[in-house]
Amino acid sequence: MQANRPRRAWESDEAAMFRASLRAFLETEAVPREEAWREQRFVEREFWHKAGELGALCPSIPVEYGGSGGDFTFEAVMVEELGYCGITSFQQNIHGTIVAHYIHQYGSDAQKAAWLPKLATGEWIAAIGMTEPGAGSDLKALRTSARREGDSYVVNGSKIFITNGMLADLLIVACKTDPARGAKGISLLVLETEGAQGFSRGRNLHKIGMHGSDTAELFFEDVRIPAANLLGAENDGFVQMMTQLPQERMGVAIGAQAMAEHAVELTQSYMREREAFGGRLLDLQVPRHMLVDCLRETRVSRAFVDDCITRHNNGELSAADASMAKLHTTEMLGRVMDICVQLHGGYGYMEEYRIARMYADARVQRIYAGASEIMKDIIARTL
Ligand SMILES: Cc1cc2nc3c(=O)[nH]c(=O)nc-3n(C[C@H](O)[C@H](O)[C@H](O)COP(=O)(O)OP(=O)(O)OC[C@H]3O[C@@H](n4cnc5c(N)ncnc54)[C@H](O)[C@@H]3O)c2cc1C
Repeated sequence: MQANRPRRAWESDEAAMFRASLRAFLETEAVPREEAWREQRFVEREFWHKAGELGALCPSIPVEYGGSGGDFTFEAVMVEELGYCGITSFQQNIHGTIVAHYIHQYGSDAQKAAWLPKLATGEWIAAIGMTEPGAGSDLKALRTSARREGDSYVVNGSKIFITNGMLADLLIVACKTDPARGAKGISLLVLETEGAQGFSRGRNLHKIGMHGSDTAELFFEDVRIPAANLLGAENDGFVQMMTQLPQERMGVAIGAQAMAEHAVELTQSYMREREAFGGRLLDLQVPRHMLVDCLRETRVSRAFVDDCITRHNNGELSAADASMAKLHTTEMLGRVMDICVQLHGGYGYMEEYRIARMYADARVQRIYAGASEIMKDIIARTL
């Protein structure tokens, strides 16, 4: 089901055209496959190639590097449409909204020319490894080390919970290049995974939701990464991550907002059809008030998210406001999803109903890309 949604104030004619072609593509190519992706627990390369042909993998990377040449609103459109289609398996967000932008922002001309076109076509799939078994929220505590030896870095350590990690051909690895300097001793290295000696992937981790998105453990045992694959300057990694995380958080916020809106649409249409006590569920006062609460939550949140999209697109969004958008939308999503499942009754608990799958998929939004508590800390620093 696709509802008619109002055009966003930030949406240019080009972004609207991109949305229309993307929606048609997702409805024909992704929606019918989502079930299979959840079963096999990854999205096959063939789909990545098709998305690349459409220009959907790197929508806001310049054309000279193979991207679609749009601005951040194209990324917003992409994340929204995935949310409205109920697709959580395909993690373009990590690939194109996040990794491609690290490369575009910090890469040399040679690095950009070598890697970005491959990401834009889907020839290569990208991931980023920051989190480790002993360091998630506290990123500066990461222990994966990179020791300079001649014209290479020798990397040792491990990463966990890495989205797209099972398939990644290109992996940004956050490493300690100067362990004594804490946050000031972190660098970002790009590993080309094919044939990389000492690099291995562990399990495709089993999650309570988002079953079609692969999530990996990664291991590095004396892995040699050419020094030429350093992104930007040595020991700049922490600042680079802190600079890019607002865009990652906006991606999560926009997705959570779209998911919540879609949950309300699904629930409203279910309540129109469902009969109870001689009439429609939608006509009973308590259930319809519950739905109104959800509608109110999503509508009010939409105004803030749209404002943040506009400001981020203009380069004016603060890290605190990106954190507030992520905090607010993901917490709101949790409340809305809970009510929407309740309004579906027993059917809401059945996996064959999209609302049940969305409920499970929604839970992690409050945890990854910085947990809600960390978002509050970032906002609190501005007080
Ligand atoms: C499905 C999935 C996909 C992911 N994808 C990626 C990826 O692609 N790349 C990547 O690098 N990482 C990824 N992650 C990791 C994710 O970003 C981390 O799990 C998250 O940042 C939390 O870190 P942690 O799990 O170590 O929890 P911890 O840091 O151990 O925190 C546990 C909980 O303690 C609380 N807490 C921690 N510190 C504080 C504090 N200072 N103040 C108040 N409360 C606090 C929070 O509630 C937090 O949720 C993914 C995780 C999941 C589940």
